[in-house]
Amino acid sequence: MSNDMTGTYAVTFLVTVIISILLFLLLREFFCWYWKINQSVALLQEIRDLLTAPARSKEPHEQQRRCPKCGAQQPGGNTFCESCGEKVE
Ligand SMILES: [Zn+2]
Repeated sequence: MSNDMTGTYAVTFLVTVIISILLFLLLREFFCWYWKINQSVALLQEIRDLLTAPARSKEPHEQQRRCPKCGAQQPGGNTFCESCGEKVE
C-alpha cells in the first residue's frame, strides 16, 4: 500500500518535472523567436529609413537651398552663402 503511494508520488513528481522542463524550453523558444522578430523589424525599419531618407530629402532640399539675397545655390549644409555671406535657412 505504502509502496504504491510512493510510486504514484514519484510518477507525478516526474511528470511535473518533465512538464516544467518542456514549458521552460517552449517559453525560451518563444521568447527567442519574439526577440528575433523584434530585432529584424527594427533592422527593416532602419533599412527603410536609410533607403527613403535620401530620396525624401533630396527634392525639397535642392529647391530650398538657395541664398535668399543673391539666389546662388548652396551645396551641402552651408549655413552662410558662399558668394555673398547671407545666412541661408
Ligand atoms: Zn548669397
